[in-house]
Amino acid sequence: MARVEHDLTAEQWTALTEAWGGGCAYCGVTGTPLQRDCVLPISRGGRYTLDNIAPACRSCNASKCNDEVTGWLRRKRLDERAFLVRHAAVRNALVARFTETVVAPGA
Ligand SMILES: [Zn+2]
Repeated sequence: MARVEHDLTAEQWTALTEAWGGGCAYCGVTGTPLQRDCVLPISRGGRYTLDNIAPACRSCNASKCNDEVTGWLRRKRLDERAFLVRHAAVRNALVARFTETVVAPGA
């Protein structure tokens, strides 16, 4: 097992799943446990950070694995464009929000 940096806090994960409406970021399924999926896989240089994590159902997470996200979405016939637009919006909102929180004195 390669050493992985787990930068995402529990609070960030909660915010992330809420921002995605509590469902899978890729197929939209709800009511199932969500896993932390690296949009850019670790094997391709991605990290477990707020701007690179999307909540994914087990099925999507297992299927996507180390694939490049847009190619995988296309193969799965999922809406690649809708995902990218929403991922960017969620990322911008959350990065801004948590950047403010992080800049607390004495951190
Ligand atoms: Zn899914």
